[in-house]
Amino acid sequence: MLVVCGLTLCLGLALRGHSLRDCHLPLTAFCGLANLAAAVAILARARECPRESRGWRLLGLALILIAAANLAAGLDYRFPHLLGSHNVGPVILGVLSQSLAVAALVCLPWQSAGLDRRGRNVLGSILFVGSILLILWTVTNWEEGFGSHNVVNLALVAACVRLALLGGVALLLLEQDPRRIHGVLGFVLLNSLLGAIYIALLQALERQVGLKAIQMYTRHEMQEVIVVDGVAKGIVTRDMVTGEFEAHVADAVVLATGGYGNVFYLATYAKGCNTTAIWRAYQKGAAFANPCYTQIHPTCIPVTGDHQSKLTLMSESLRNDGRIWVPKKAGDKRPADQIPEDERDYYLERKYPSYGNLAPRDIASRAAKQVCDDGRGVGETGLGVYLDLSEATRRIGLHKIEEKYGNLLEMYDRITGEDPYKTPMRIYPASHYTMGGLWVDYNLMTTVPGLFCMGEANFSDHGANRLGASALMQGLSDGYFVLPATIAPYLAGIKPGARIKLDAPEVKAAEQATVTRQNKLFAIKGKQTPTEFHRKLGKIMWEFCGMARNESGLKEALKQIPELREQFHHDLALPGSGSEVNQTLELAGRVADFLDLGELMCLDALERRESCGGHFREEWQTEEGEAKRDDDHFCHVAAWEYMGAGQTPKRNVEELSFDNVHLATRSYK
Ligand SMILES: Cc1cc2nc3c(=O)[nH]c(=O)nc-3n(C[C@H](O)[C@H](O)[C@H](O)COP(=O)(O)OP(=O)(O)OC[C@H]3O[C@@H](n4cnc5c(N)ncnc54)[C@H](O)[C@@H]3O)c2cc1C
Repeated sequence: MLVVCGLTLCLGLALRGHSLRDCHLPLTAFCGLANLAAAVAILARARECPRESRGWRLLGLALILIAAANLAAGLDYRFPHLLGSHNVGPVILGVLSQSLAVAALVCLPWQSAGLDRRGRNVLGSILFVGSILLILWTVTNWEEGFGSHNVVNLALVAACVRLALLGGVALLLLEQDPRRIHGVLGFVLLNSLLGAIYIALLQALERQVGLKAIQMYTRHEMQEVIVVDGVAKGIVTRDMVTGEFEAHVADAVVLATGGYGNVFYLATYAKGCNTTAIWRAYQKGAAFANPCYTQIHPTCIPVTGDHQSKLTLMSESLRNDGRIWVPKKAGDKRPADQIPEDERDYYLERKYPSYGNLAPRDIASRAAKQVCDDGRGVGETGLGVYLDLSEATRRIGLHKIEEKYGNLLEMYDRITGEDPYKTPMRIYPASHYTMGGLWVDYNLMTTVPGLFCMGEANFSDHGANRLGASALMQGLSDGYFVLPATIAPYLAGIKPGARIKLDAPEVKAAEQATVTRQNKLFAIKGKQTPTEFHRKLGKIMWEFCGMARNESGLKEALKQIPELREQFHHDLALPGSGSEVNQTLELAGRVADFLDLGELMCLDALERRESCGGHFREEWQTEEGEAKRDDDHFCHVAAWEYMGAGQTPKRNVEELSFDNVHLATRSYK
């Protein structure tokens, strides 16, 4: 009951607009009360059964300590300085309670629950090892002062130990009275649920928010960078609920606003991802590096028509067991199961025998495009290839396939209405990641001093291609290792008290620029929605600057995009006003920036007269259709510099030099 009350209270707070932070103390308090109630019940049980009382008493005590740890954690989070050094109180209580719980478990009358001596020993040993690990972890992390990430680890270990503990208690109680099943299960499940919520609450960012080290501005979109004497000094945001513009001044600005792959309209990105932040930074002097380097992922659910607003990624892991094929004969429209084995072309296995279906993303994507261009694509549109799990199903069994990919296959079934256990899945490449972005130095600073950029929004780390999993690696290393070490020295060089005031002319000018930009969009009063323009731009980009590019196509795109932009600025339909929630307005602003960015991407692709990684220029390929680099002329980063509206940007070059790993051409044959 107490746990349910706790959850209800939190739900109520959340519905009234309170943040997770506000729910934290009530949640931990109710969690503590629930544990306390369980302790009382268990101690009462100890009185009933004097013969078994030692174990029950210890368990009761352990639960009281866990309750105290819950409460301490809640207080520590809400009032960080109340208990001295952060988290130490809850951690000590947590460790004590876990140790006590282990002792209790060893003493509990397991035989009566049907657990033999061996079972008891196994359970006791697991808990014992868990506790030792917990204690070791505590000792080794002592000096770090239990930062938020450590608390999450602790909570995880503690949650596991607690789950085993609760499971054991449940077993015992049930054995003694099976009618308790609902109560016992309810307690175990809800307690675990609370544990999970608790862990979520302790996430690093939330904790810093709780400590008031970070002020959150949810539902705000950054619209402008404030630059004073060439140095970044803040940003201007738009409140997406009230429509208000607000300036925020700072000693340094960090952009972590993600990639721009939605320029293709259909992409695996979340719909909200856009380029506005980095585009504005570019317009304020930050160089934009290698904009044409985009990654197209080979395993997405194919496009079926104009009704789609995004594409769904089918995890690459499917390529571990799936075989990719198309019919050998062009125009073969027979269902997959009617195409005999010798009439199938497992083209990746054929072309790249050593990598087969695991060929890198750019190669697998291009190969899929090639077979579809040959008229051998599958599905109604002919833009798809089969990813077939039938051979793996025969080899390792249906249950293994279900175990490994069940959730993905279910998702595929729901989206396409086809059962992937019975018929091969259809996949096709889609825009997934952008390796280009704002140019940054090794300190992650852009060419505008004080303006830093991290994660997918910058150009660093990946070059012309990206391997799986390295995006999250980059985000983590940028945020965890690099920036903390590089921003501090930058800030150390700033004179105290030199922060610009909110009424400074540069701040006012930046605010005015955002207002003017918005007013211009409302003044158009045309007929086409931002989505229609976005879709058209996406088609141009996909056709001419997608998986394969060539000079005439890129020149065509560079003709069509300015025409589309012209149409946009004369025929945009924008309902509502700027002083309310207006998603069409948000979209319009983003599409305006995508139109400009798309042009820069095509220009960059045109100027890079070689093929490399995700950038495949059809004129530069080997006889076998593989990418051909031109290291003599293009072994460099192209960093584009904004020269003003309507002006051709300047292409700066940063030569690449290789000391330890030397340039080579890989073969996936
Ligand atoms: C479907 C999918 C699966 C993926 N799987 C993997 C994987 O398995 N392994 C891997 O390593 N990578 C994977 N990636 C790539 C990886 O997730 C991204 O590269 C990574 O999340 C980028 O992190 P980020 O913090 O730089 O940007 P994001 O996670 O994109 O975050 C940027 C945030 O900034 C916000 N924002 C943008 N503009 C503004 C603005 N003007 N004002 C305010 N806020 C703004 C965005 O709304 C977003 O919340 C996957 C990507 C997708 C789409």
